Amino acid sequence: MHATTFTAVFLIAFAASLALRLWLARRHATHVAAHRGTVPPAFADRIGLPAHQKAADYTVARTQVGVAETLVDAALLIALTFAGGLAALVAWTGSFDLGLLWQDLALMVAVAVVSGLIGLPFSYVQTFGIEAKFGFNRTTRALWLADIAKGVLVGAALGLPLAALVLWLMRAAGPLWWLWAWAAWIGFQVLVLALYPTVIAPLFNKFSPLPAGAARETIEALLARCGFENRGLYVMDGSRRSSHGNAFFTGFGRAKRIVLFDTLLLRLAPAEVEAVLAHELGHFKLKHVMKRMAWTAVVSLAFLALLAWLAAAPWFYEGLGVPAAPERPGVALILFFLALPVFTFVLGPIASLYSRRHEFEADAFAVEHASATSLVHALVKLYEDNAATLTPDPLHSAFYDSHPPAAVRIARLTAP
Ligand SMILES: [Zn+2]
Repeated sequence: MHATTFTAVFLIAFAASLALRLWLARRHATHVAAHRGTVPPAFADRIGLPAHQKAADYTVARTQVGVAETLVDAALLIALTFAGGLAALVAWTGSFDLGLLWQDLALMVAVAVVSGLIGLPFSYVQTFGIEAKFGFNRTTRALWLADIAKGVLVGAALGLPLAALVLWLMRAAGPLWWLWAWAAWIGFQVLVLALYPTVIAPLFNKFSPLPAGAARETIEALLARCGFENRGLYVMDGSRRSSHGNAFFTGFGRAKRIVLFDTLLLRLAPAEVEAVLAHELGHFKLKHVMKRMAWTAVVSLAFLALLAWLAAAPWFYEGLGVPAAPERPGVALILFFLALPVFTFVLGPIASLYSRRHEFEADAFAVEHASATSLVHALVKLYEDNAATLTPDPLHSAFYDSHPPAAVRIARLTAP
């Protein structure tokens, strides 16, 4: 391929995916605003008009910030590629009196710092503007900054060794380097999964054993009924940061834990907590986590093979406005991850569809082992508490939502 051909292909995909994102956001905001006046009939007896309108306003506000972020990200992509930003960073890090590997690592850190700094104002507005305005935020500025600092340190502690290993493999492991890099990537994911519940998550939140009481008894009975070996029931102090509620399973093998947000326990009755957990247990028993990991492994192998092919092609660099740099594999790595979303965004609905099928299966599992009515009640409360819109634009939802829209999901649960 010629560099100019690739430039044209890239720019067309870039413009199309940007236009698609903006169009979806506009549709979503318009759709939600148009349905702001009435609670959908299926929810009319459980959700009041003020709560419904709050959800609509919250959704529109978040969508607007999302649009601003999309535009800034698009500008950053152009600034790094055609406007010469990455080329300048390559030249700058190339002047360091270090080996090529360290120059590439410095380059990756520089790009991460630039894009991290640009994302910071959006995180600030999201947390202290929108979340605060709608009464969800409980984070202080000190906690927000501490979270960022810890996130950077954890990211560096885990990410830098992986990046160094991959860069080394790209240079030293021959034409099949991408197979080795893939093995390293899988190993890394297993490591993070193993470290997450006991090492990483406790850096950010406090986990305490679920105290004895009605909720605990109900949950233990459910776990026994489903034949799930209980390795620990924990409550997480999610209320330190936000009033949004949630529950999740973490870890694997012997380190498996069930974590409930304290906000969830405050809000839901024991039978409702049981139904929510039965749904999560469904994901686990139906091997959704394993299936998703297997898919991720296959997809990442394909992407690494693609990266290996592109990294060896001068038109890939030159087509994106960066001088070809075969001796600096970090450049190919960065360009690949910058350019990839432009081409993959359109595939979003496929991933959503896959994930929604799992949600329906987990709901069906929950209904078998707990009460469908309680699950519906719990979902309605969670939708209300999270101010999640009941009336998303269907097309926007198909691209972005991993869960089926509330109305569809509840209609299935209440179907005779
Ligand atoms: Zn689920």
